[in-house]
Amino acid sequence: MDLFDKCEKFTRVSDVKALGLYPYFHALTTGQDTEVVMDNHRIVMIGSNNYLGLTSDPRLIAAGIQALEKYGSGCSGSRFLNGTLDLHDHLEKALAKFLHKEAVGTFSTGFQSNLGIISAIAGLGDVIIGDKENHASIYDACRLSYAKLYRYEHNNMEELEGLLKEHTGKGILIVTDGVFSMGGDIANLPAIVTLAKKYHARVMVDDAHGLGVLGKHGRGTAEHFGLEEEVDIYMGTFSKSLASLGGYMAAKQQVIDYVKHVSRPFIFSASITPASAACALEALKILEAEPNRVSDLSAIASYMRKGLISRGIKIIESETPIVPIYTYDEITTFKACKLLLERGVYVNPVIPPAVANGQCLLRTSYTATHTKEQIDFAIDKIDEVLTELGVK
Ligand code: PMP
Repeated sequence: MDLFDKCEKFTRVSDVKALGLYPYFHALTTGQDTEVVMDNHRIVMIGSNNYLGLTSDPRLIAAGIQALEKYGSGCSGSRFLNGTLDLHDHLEKALAKFLHKEAVGTFSTGFQSNLGIISAIAGLGDVIIGDKENHASIYDACRLSYAKLYRYEHNNMEELEGLLKEHTGKGILIVTDGVFSMGGDIANLPAIVTLAKKYHARVMVDDAHGLGVLGKHGRGTAEHFGLEEEVDIYMGTFSKSLASLGGYMAAKQQVIDYVKHVSRPFIFSASITPASAACALEALKILEAEPNRVSDLSAIASYMRKGLISRGIKIIESETPIVPIYTYDEITTFKACKLLLERGVYVNPVIPPAVANGQCLLRTSYTATHTKEQIDFAIDKIDEVLTELGVK
């Protein structure tokens, strides 16, 4: 037995490559935008989380350059010790104000935010209750925490209530994605906060796909439902609507202070680079000044949904800019990605374990700055490819 046996037996990648269908790690030779270049080929991008179209915004780029010039390339340390810049403080204050929470703590990525928040807040003897479709980083965070994790079927509020009843009296954290990253549907936050109140549990919402997307001002899932007060902890990322890198937690001051002093992924990891912090701050200012981006995004996604449905294409319906299209089996999914790429459209394949067997998807997602021409082009190509593959 050798530790590396598993690597030698790992033939999934070579098998798919042998079929000429490998869909991962395509390098872009341009920035992330509504159109990108891959292999000297111009492609309409409908597979990114650049929801507000800010990755190429000249104001963000200027803010990033200015921060690089003023603070240098990196912070060489954790927020806890030498790695805090006034820029991090400005970003945290601005975000707390925007989200109507007392305080914010920033982490190096969204993934790390979940690790850092959940492992600090839920300890031995506590209980975490989460939706089965929660993001992978929430699962890993629960493994890092000494609390016990219980899961309910996707959006099944009866099961959630059953678990709450069973564990009444313990410290309970209910954790859910605000917008589910694969299906694009929205958590039933009204029911969750009602149950949390009834059983004295705390609520944490991972709003990675909610910030800049839901609510009139783009404050996310809680704003969408008018429940901002009721959510105890928001977690989010700078890598989607805010067009940068990093993550955050927003909550009461006491809770943030606690996490900042006990969370190992926060304390023992370097802080966000100056350029990333400055870009996130600039993106936040733009989101506040230009809330029309949020409604433009919603209009583009609705236009796409209507277009796909009118062609008889099977999608998962939602109110968000994530529009998953059914391709069912794995090989058809990979073939669809390949054919679409050859014809000028990038989409993401979603296969098990991210979805159940036979429920594979093309995950498409939209940007506020997509044009109708780009969307019409994508609809035509998807229709063409799915017809050829017999998926329609
Ligand atoms: N939570 C959710 C729901 C996500 O979709 C993601 C990113 N895919 C993350 C957390 C992690 O964020 P980041 O990419 O900033 O690490």
